[in-house]
Amino acid sequence: MTEPTPAVRDRALSLPSTELPAYIYDLAALRTHAAAVRDALPERVELYYAAKANPEPEILAALGPYVDGYEVSSGGELAHVAKAVPGRPLAFGGPGKTPEEVTTALETGVDRFHVESGHELRMLAELARRFAPGRKVAVLPRVNLPVADGSLQGSSLAMGGRPTPFGMDPAQAAPVVRALTDGTYPHLELRGIHAHLASGLQAAEQLAVAETVVTWASGLGVPLTEVNVGGGMHVDYAEPERRFDWVAYGRGLARLAERHPQLTLRIEPGRALTAYCGWYATEVLDVKHSHGEEFAVVRGGTHHLRTPATKGHDQPCSVLPVEAWPHPWPRPAAGGERSEPGASPDGGRGKVTLAGQLCTPKDVLARRVPAPGLRAGDRVAFSLAGAYAWNISHHDFLMHPRPGFHFLNAAG
Ligand SMILES: *Cc1c(COP(=O)(O)O)cnc(C)c1O
Repeated sequence: MTEPTPAVRDRALSLPSTELPAYIYDLAALRTHAAAVRDALPERVELYYAAKANPEPEILAALGPYVDGYEVSSGGELAHVAKAVPGRPLAFGGPGKTPEEVTTALETGVDRFHVESGHELRMLAELARRFAPGRKVAVLPRVNLPVADGSLQGSSLAMGGRPTPFGMDPAQAAPVVRALTDGTYPHLELRGIHAHLASGLQAAEQLAVAETVVTWASGLGVPLTEVNVGGGMHVDYAEPERRFDWVAYGRGLARLAERHPQLTLRIEPGRALTAYCGWYATEVLDVKHSHGEEFAVVRGGTHHLRTPATKGHDQPCSVLPVEAWPHPWPRPAAGGERSEPGASPDGGRGKVTLAGQLCTPKDVLARRVPAPGLRAGDRVAFSLAGAYAWNISHHDFLMHPRPGFHFLNAAG
């Protein structure tokens, strides 16, 4: 779904130039997608949204009916999400939790803690004794399990089990699990196991991960009620129409759940839930030739949409032609005939690199996009801008104005 939805297209074309660039979200598209994901999952699988992918309050609220809770990874996210979707279950994860954050989380009544190390467990135990007397705080130790699956065709899947700051090695997790079950920490309760081992996995790979985590957790020989197998479902920026196969994943999780009737399985995707509902819409400011290549400079750039720079891809986009040119000076245009979409590309002609306004060669949103005849004043809508987009970007670099934000189809 590279093409903007009709509502997004209308908004991208009707905003005055001075109100571009803009992030435009289609909340109806988000609700439809989230409902399809929820429908594909068996009832016994809980769906948490990893808020770090996109914590806009409107997004959190729109996801509300389809998710069982939210995963937060900092005190900031915790406060923000608790305010945006009050009363919803929160899981507090992430490395380097501070004593202040943990205390606030305990006072806020966070539902469960994903504990990243033995040190964090000991801190949590003491703070729970002081700040959450009279109740048991639910803990899921995070494990960094080796997962290498040669059975996945063509995939060099070998993730988890590598040195990282996240979670605990299986050997370190064992004493943590023991301490949570032998009465060492009367204010804590071992609720289950958490793992988030990789990102960008297809359904078959995700199922192999889930199988590994559940098998390991069951082998601990202690009573567990939950296993959280993480997020990281693939989003294909090169071929956006190739979506993660939620139906196959859901069927696989159903089989896994059947074999472990005492367990609640949980997943916590971020990117694959919200990437598709957001567009970054902007306007071409200048079109120029440089040593045999064509460039279009657009309003804004990677300081608003850092995703293509961090992931090293071309952000998928659509050109929205604008006929009017209100200025008395000539209108620059790229070479090649402006033609029907899908017309055969004529060699290098008509390929345009879309760059932003920053004074760095890294400020490129998409390279060599087929856009024959692209003109200043035409508009461009970058898709898959609903996750890890605005909120991971270095907004203040070069002090350009911030984009607008538009949440369309807010009513359900
Ligand atoms: C980032 C993160 C997620 C979500 O990952 P996506 O790739 O956005 O699905 C889930 N769990 C944890 C612990 C994370 O850090």
